[in-house]
Amino acid sequence: MENRAQQDIVIIGAGVAGLACARRLLAAGRRFVLCEASDRIGGRVATEVCDGYRLDRGFQVLLTAYPEARRLLDYDALDLRRFYPGALVRHGGKWHRVADPFRHPIDGLRGAFNPIGSFADKLRVAWARIGGFDFSRHDPGLGTLEALRAEGFSAAMIERFFRPFLGGVFLENRLETTVCKLDFVMRYFARGDTAIPALGMAEIPRQLAASLPAAAIRLQTRVTSIEDRGVRLENGEIIAARSVVIATEAGAAERLSGQGDPHVAFNSVACLYFSAPSAPVDEPILLLNGESAGPINNLTVLSAVSPDHAPPGRHLVSVSVVDPEAAAAPDLDERVRRQLADWFGTDARGWELLRTDRIPRAVPSQRVLPEKSPRLAEGLYQCGDHCGIASLNTALASGTAAAEALLEDYP
Ligand SMILES: Cc1cc2nc3c(=O)[nH]c(=O)nc-3n(C[C@H](O)[C@H](O)[C@H](O)COP(=O)(O)OP(=O)(O)OC[C@H]3O[C@@H](n4cnc5c(N)ncnc54)[C@H](O)[C@@H]3O)c2cc1C
Repeated sequence: MENRAQQDIVIIGAGVAGLACARRLLAAGRRFVLCEASDRIGGRVATEVCDGYRLDRGFQVLLTAYPEARRLLDYDALDLRRFYPGALVRHGGKWHRVADPFRHPIDGLRGAFNPIGSFADKLRVAWARIGGFDFSRHDPGLGTLEALRAEGFSAAMIERFFRPFLGGVFLENRLETTVCKLDFVMRYFARGDTAIPALGMAEIPRQLAASLPAAAIRLQTRVTSIEDRGVRLENGEIIAARSVVIATEAGAAERLSGQGDPHVAFNSVACLYFSAPSAPVDEPILLLNGESAGPINNLTVLSAVSPDHAPPGRHLVSVSVVDPEAAAAPDLDERVRRQLADWFGTDARGWELLRTDRIPRAVPSQRVLPEKSPRLAEGLYQCGDHCGIASLNTALASGTAAAEALLEDYP
């Protein structure tokens, strides 16, 4: 006989979308069970603590202006550590500072004549910074590269600054991502800070889950199919429920719902963590490769952003490789070391490689604006970053939206 359990609502997936959905349902006094296939909550947001280092699974940041993150998260409790608003760009064998002219006017002025774009480009960046560009007026099918060209940015500015900067955000450096994501990213970078929780990105899902009843979260519980009014688990168990919310990543969501194409393309990234005896840069700033040579796209000394990320006396350097061919190279760490030695001197060759994460399904590739309704069928809902511009904010907002739709349909 089949083992059957009865629940009001089943949420499939305990990434930030599923957790946000659960939070909203809890606030409405509804009973639910959250089934998570892996052995932890957080989905693509994970931090591993290893020998005193805090290693996020892929370099990832929170933009404090994200509206849904502001609404749902307690930033003070996350003890956010903020980045310098700007970047150091490697070009012509030197580092050049590109600063937010409104928050650091002196640095902004100093950088106005550096070779990372023309003076006119800097004025355009300042204009974009105050929301002067309305990227949303472009056709959503337009790629980011075309949009930047259409707005008059020079080839030098695009190659030296936007390609590595946006490449690191989109996790693809051809800049084919829809202009809608460019608009989204520029808006939230301009309106707030770029930050990480002092103890790592996993503090975000941890905080979301803290108020949920422990018994409502079932880890290592993979849902294999959606049944008429319920779900079937990998172990054959059926959980009967009036409503089901699919909060998985793209691909898994289509497979479970039977709607849409499950062969979703994803952007990938490789992240290497090094331990260094001294910090190559002792400020909390993003370093960009503006030279279009070598595997590194961007680098940050994470322990300069948050000292809790490394044990005393050591420094944690995070390196992101966005180009898929470079990331797949079997000698990736050697190539990265060569570039580090070129940038910071031969001592960098001796930095200890703590770990390499190749993340093939980091964010869905988005060449067009995805707009998905939270309602899939009667009693069946969806949420996740694939429901809009893939980001933490969209994942959170879509979780709340799926819960709201369910509460409206079943008051
Ligand atoms: C390297 C990297 C860098 C990023 N950088 C940023 C950044 O700087 N800023 C930003 O805003 N966003 C960034 N993102 C994107 C952001 O992390 C994601 O958009 C967000 O975490 C997605 O959350 P989600 O809940 O939609 O999906 P997920 O986190 O993928 O959660 C889905 C969950 O469903 C579970 N699941 C799947 N199938 C089943 C099943 N059959 N049964 C049960 N459970 C199942 C999975 O195990 C997973 O836990 C980055 C992502 C990565 C990977």
